[in-house]
Amino acid sequence: MATVTPTTPQPLVLGRKKIRIVCISDTHNIQLKPPDGDVLIHAGDMTNAGSHTELKKAIEWISGLKHEVKIVVAGYLALQPRESLIGNHDGVTLDPAFFKEFGDHFHNNNPQSHEENLRLFVSNEAGSQGVMYLSHEAKRVVLKDGRTFQVFGSPWSKKGGMWGFGYDEPNYLGESLWTDIPADTDVMVTHGPPKHHLDSPQAPQIGCECLRQALWNVRPALHVFGHVHQGRGVEMVKWDIQSRHTQYKELSTTRILDPTPESKKLFKVDLTQIAEREETCLVNAAIVTQPWRKGIGHAGRNKAIVVDLMVDVADLRDGRRDKMAAGSRPITGGEFARAQTSTRSQVAEDAHTVSSSA
Ligand SMILES: [Zn+2]
Repeated sequence: MATVTPTTPQPLVLGRKKIRIVCISDTHNIQLKPPDGDVLIHAGDMTNAGSHTELKKAIEWISGLKHEVKIVVAGYLALQPRESLIGNHDGVTLDPAFFKEFGDHFHNNNPQSHEENLRLFVSNEAGSQGVMYLSHEAKRVVLKDGRTFQVFGSPWSKKGGMWGFGYDEPNYLGESLWTDIPADTDVMVTHGPPKHHLDSPQAPQIGCECLRQALWNVRPALHVFGHVHQGRGVEMVKWDIQSRHTQYKELSTTRILDPTPESKKLFKVDLTQIAEREETCLVNAAIVTQPWRKGIGHAGRNKAIVVDLMVDVADLRDGRRDKMAAGSRPITGGEFARAQTSTRSQVAEDAHTVSSSA
């Protein structure tokens, strides 16, 4: 089962209210103007090569958006033939281990600093503008009016070439990094997709089975990802939690389509009636429509996907907001996550949490 880690003070819940979450991913240096909403989620691949110049432009664009909180994970880039690039592109410099080993292969005459690039996302300035960068960790989002939810975000996806934040899929969930997801997670953000869900009809192996099993365990209301550009779309999965002998079973999957794909009208998904911990809305929010190809680039653009969800409203008297959001619940399960968390905390020493400064 999912790890339950000690948490920051739980909110004193006054009621429930709707929140609007705008989902985007795989923008690859496109700086679109997403629809209005309370929270923006970017599920990685903001850039093409994770260079300082690209990441700086990306953070300036994201920081300047009006959404009160902007949740960001990095995405993954590979040293494979440049005709078809699939991977975590931001991770070339944002993944410390990858950068140390392979960073020199990228940005040839333009040395990059992992620490400097990461600081763009975890600085006081980014925090004060509502940016919440999640590097395989859980945090509580608390809006100024008390609306709150628990989010887990991770840049990791299955290896598909030599890019940052890539892992070899383990044999079973217990061996995977996905046991780190706290059981009370309401919203999950990963760069890669779970297996069999919006992970491309051409290459279903791109999705991760362990991630799918972790979803079954936690059953968050919403899981946002990207990575597989052609898999963009929305599915509602009902989980079978009654079967005594079969784990990780699904009762049904329903595809939710944009009723007006050709128009500029919002692609809106209403989750206000969702059966909690029984179903999950999966959103592949890729903005570019194709993998990058020589001479063509990323081809067309998709719309952002807008999700309405009910969340708790917390009592914010007596400075509770700062306490609740005092941040990050560092993940404690496993060497993998410990290594990630310690690398990041050195860089983030001086960084405030989003909510205490927003
Ligand atoms: Zn991408």
